[in-house]
Amino acid sequence: MAQQPSDNLPSGITADDIPPDLWQACPQCSHLIYAPELAVELWVCSKCGHHMRLTVWQRLQITVDADSFEEWDHELPLNDPLSFPEYLQKAEQAREKTGMTEAVLTGRAKLEGIPFGIGLMDLSFIGGSMGWTVGERVARLMERAVKLRLPVVMFCASGGARMQESLIALMQMPKTSGAAGKLAQAGLPYITVLTDPTYGGVTASFAFLGDIIIAEAGAAMGFAGPRVVELTGLKMPAGVQTAEFQHEHGMIDMLLKRSQIRSELHSILRWCTA
Ligand SMILES: [Zn+2]
Repeated sequence: MAQQPSDNLPSGITADDIPPDLWQACPQCSHLIYAPELAVELWVCSKCGHHMRLTVWQRLQITVDADSFEEWDHELPLNDPLSFPEYLQKAEQAREKTGMTEAVLTGRAKLEGIPFGIGLMDLSFIGGSMGWTVGERVARLMERAVKLRLPVVMFCASGGARMQESLIALMQMPKTSGAAGKLAQAGLPYITVLTDPTYGGVTASFAFLGDIIIAEAGAAMGFAGPRVVELTGLKMPAGVQTAEFQHEHGMIDMLLKRSQIRSELHSILRWCTA
């Protein structure tokens, strides 16, 4: 039987009882980690190696040169073409929770002094879903990178297209794919880093179009998730939608631990822009 997250905690104590600013329980093995040490460990469990999900701010902190990030297209408004019930309220809650204005943050940054365009997605902003604003920011990131002759690194994390925007959300797939094509035509490198989890319309567009596709260890990825697949009556074999399986079967170029990503990205950028 699978171990439950609360199995290793003293009796009568649940994960909810632990002050999150002091100790954090690993979601996989329940090992208690002293919160101030999490950043030093890159939010990876020192006992079982589980890679915890990161906010875009944490990802920036461990990836780019300090104070080098400059945000682009911050002002793009949220699109609510169907006046979908409670959509705007949900977005407002997500803004307060994440400190982001949409599910993707884009801009430029430097890594060991090398400038590049960067996009980062956060699952906690409406499931990291892609609506008009997300698609537009990703497309503008790539188009501006072409003008500025910058390589692009895209950290993906998404549940798929944003249902509240219906067809408009699906139209972001060809739009972002076309923009990635412009990078290719311009001879500029496009590197994607698939983090936990990467699904749906993002998988089926810009996430898997990288010249080099990197996956973070343990990340789940696929098109339709296991619950959706099982609705069709098919049983999803265990482990298929993992970074490790996809790497073994040729869908991923590099499978990296979080501690390796910054240095590998630096090597790739240095090699590509020399
Ligand atoms: Zn653990």
